[in-house]
Amino acid sequence: MKFDSSNKIFSWYYSIIITTILIVGALASVFTYIKISESTQNTLLKNAASIASVLETDNILSFRGNENDLKNTGYVSLKDKFEKIPEINSEIRFVYLWGYRDQNVYFFVDSEPATSLDYSPPGQVYTEATEIDRNMFLKNLPSTMEMNTDRWGTWLSALTPIKDSSTGKLIAVMGVDMNANTYFRTIYVYTAIPVLSTIFVLILIVVGFILRKREQEFLAFKSELVSIASHEIRSPLTGITWIMDALLKEGEGLSEKQKYDIDLVKNKSEELLLTVNDLLDGAVAEKLSKKKLSKQPIQVKTLFEEIMNDSFLVLAEKNIKLNIDSSIAPEVTILGDFDRIKRMFNNLFSNAIKYSKNGGVVRVSAINQKANFVFAIKDEGIGISPKDQNKIFRGFFRAENAKKITSNGTGLGLHYVKQIAELHNGKVWCESKEGLGSTFYVKLPK
Ligand code: ADP
Repeated sequence: MKFDSSNKIFSWYYSIIITTILIVGALASVFTYIKISESTQNTLLKNAASIASVLETDNILSFRGNENDLKNTGYVSLKDKFEKIPEINSEIRFVYLWGYRDQNVYFFVDSEPATSLDYSPPGQVYTEATEIDRNMFLKNLPSTMEMNTDRWGTWLSALTPIKDSSTGKLIAVMGVDMNANTYFRTIYVYTAIPVLSTIFVLILIVVGFILRKREQEFLAFKSELVSIASHEIRSPLTGITWIMDALLKEGEGLSEKQKYDIDLVKNKSEELLLTVNDLLDGAVAEKLSKKKLSKQPIQVKTLFEEIMNDSFLVLAEKNIKLNIDSSIAPEVTILGDFDRIKRMFNNLFSNAIKYSKNGGVVRVSAINQKANFVFAIKDEGIGISPKDQNKIFRGFFRAENAKKITSNGTGLGLHYVKQIAELHNGKVWCESKEGLGSTFYVKLPK
């Protein structure tokens, strides 16, 4: 199935939207990742700072960093406090105090109960100490974050220097550890919000795109099918009406009953031909572009007279008078595709006749505007209710009062009229009162 230029614009439009959403989604995800990781680290640093602010430095100065500390009441009381911190704040796994001697970082005190396998007694060397850990002592680093793996796992650690309040000398380093899994889980959970929202919006858009593409392919296929089928039916039908016509004209030797039957077949064939034409018009108009119109000056008066002559039989049958107003003067000309403009007005005239009561009058006039002519086709027929007036140009719609008058109609004629008017940069609309009549207006450039 071929895609025309509007489909290309439509595909471009979707590509731009999808790319924009992808970029915005990616930026939002990266931004969230950075922000959440920063805020988690800041929270850990703040926690460490607030714990450090309540430590008694005199107490720490009394620690020896060996088993003797176990008997030191200061050690016992600090260990007791440290043990409580992970219980209160579930995000903190370890709190500890380090000292430094003989080029080794070692534990003064930690938050693990002595019964725990993870407990580090005073004086235990921290063999996995990193460059940063050592530099906390050697280079007097300020509060620092680090990601470190040791025998207990992988940790995000906030390290805070503890200084003697009177001398300002570094006496220990306090560490607060958060499990790296907890840290990354927090970040991933928050980052998942923009990521999932982007994916969700993209899925909606892609599904919309596929559905719309399928619908367009289906419509194109349908109109192709209608057009082929109508063509195949129209030719033999036209042949049948000609043969019936010829039979009637040379009707010598035919009985009245035979003439009546032939006339009936001819009328029914013509009705069928009109329906097929409507279907074909609809299908063709959908594919027509402005470029495919072959425009020429059209003298409207002559055109209307031609249509009137073609409708002579129907007008006589319903005793309807078709009145071409004097405003349709010989100089009223428009630029358009003759065949299409003729079929367009033909549809409007035949509707006005079809939906008129017997003995009615159909009047056609023109209003001369600066750049346009507005043609008005006015009948005294069944009229159209206000709610139906919006629907009649959509195609495949017939009002209830119209169905009561005749079953003959496809609801496609006005759809074709609208498309042809628009292809000529024109417009069509109607004014109507149910039971009193309708006026259809067509505005066309001069
Ligand atoms: P149809 O083949 O049914 O005439 P059209 O597309 O030409 O299809 O018109 C659509 C519907 O608009 C008609 O079925 C009818 O309900 C309404 N309609 C159109 N022209 C008139 C009119 N002159 N008077 C009253 N109703 C009209």
